[in-house]
Amino acid sequence: KYHEEMAKRKKLHNIVQETKGNIRVFCRCRPLSKVETSSGCKCVVDFDGANDGDIGIINGGTAKKTFKFDRVYTPKDDQAEVYADASPLVTSVLDGYNVCIFAYGQTGTGKTFTMEGTERNRGVNYRTLEELFKIAEERKDTVTYNISVSVLEVYNEQIRDLLATSPSSKKLEIKQAGEGSHHVPGIVEAKVEDINEVWDVLQTGSNSRAVGSNNVNEHSSRSHCMLCIMVRAKNLINGDCTRSKLWLVDLAGSERLAKTDAQGDRLKEAQNINRSLSALGDVISALASRSSHIPYRNSKLTHLLQDSLGSKALMFVQISPSDNDASETLSSLNFASRVRGIELGPAKKQVDTAELQKVKQMLERSKQEAKLKE
Ligand code: ADP
Ligand code: MG
Repeated sequence: KYHEEMAKRKKLHNIVQETKGNIRVFCRCRPLSKVETSSGCKCVVDFDGANDGDIGIINGGTAKKTFKFDRVYTPKDDQAEVYADASPLVTSVLDGYNVCIFAYGQTGTGKTFTMEGTERNRGVNYRTLEELFKIAEERKDTVTYNISVSVLEVYNEQIRDLLATSPSSKKLEIKQAGEGSHHVPGIVEAKVEDINEVWDVLQTGSNSRAVGSNNVNEHSSRSHCMLCIMVRAKNLINGDCTRSKLWLVDLAGSERLAKTDAQGDRLKEAQNINRSLSALGDVISALASRSSHIPYRNSKLTHLLQDSLGSKALMFVQISPSDNDASETLSSLNFASRVRGIELGPAKKQVDTAELQKVKQMLERSKQEAKLKE
């Protein structure tokens, strides 16, 4: 049983680590909540094929719709298990690749739980940084790493810097910085040097998410929370220099909003959420059909993710087990199936050309000096 499990994990690691291939999709189902259980909700999810990546939704009586993903987590699978499967992908940012991980699903299905987690049950964001620091330490004799983080929120098509100590008076915009690379001028890039600082930085970001809103849950279900980990690497042996980033995104709730009760600000919000999530859908369709034009610019979300989404990407599709949510669950799983079919070209290493020149010259000089000494 143990060996089987290890063999399966190894196979999955190889799939996840390949530089070329499809967008990976991992499906995670939360447990039925106490309220759901006590009010008689039934579980409609069939996990019999979970080990092979199959998941079934029992839709009234005997009708069952099945879906296939790269991984299916049952409510019993814990944070460490989930992270272990994502690990090979996230750590490729240290080798100079841009990576994007996003959690998609209806509000209340565990997107924030998977990405952020809780103090005692930390999620992908924290575990990622923890592992990046660990590997950086192991490689410190050959590679110098410089790691910094930004935390943003996109709400109503506006970018907010969640690490800023005072609200910015200027509107934050996305600017092109060199070929295929984007940044948001003026945004806080917190340099983190040690894992002990990380949880606090992440909490600061998470706590500012709610500031200024009268309903915390509603706000978080309507905004995208985006953690960007920027890595600069300098290899002191071969002179390789890269500059890459990893986006970890907790998306707004994917539920279709009731059209009837949305008015005014609510309606504008609803349209903007739909706009960025449907823009994500459009980008995904364009990638899937290998279209020559990918409409990244149609929303802040896709514009920010532009250099990473088409590089190496992983999506968590989060679902509820409850019969009450079955129709949203089916719609999320249908979207996720489309995402899984997308083939990406080979990921490109993000070479830091300016730094590379400097390091090359430095290595050349020390070679010459060594020659002179002979
Ligand atoms: P979302 O961000 O998608 O709206 P949350 O992450 O806030 O959803 O999760 C909703 C509730 O379900 C939270 O109380 C959370 O702790 C709980 N929850 C979600 N996923 C799990 C899980 N895998 N195991 C245990 N509890 C979970
Ligand atoms: Mg949430």
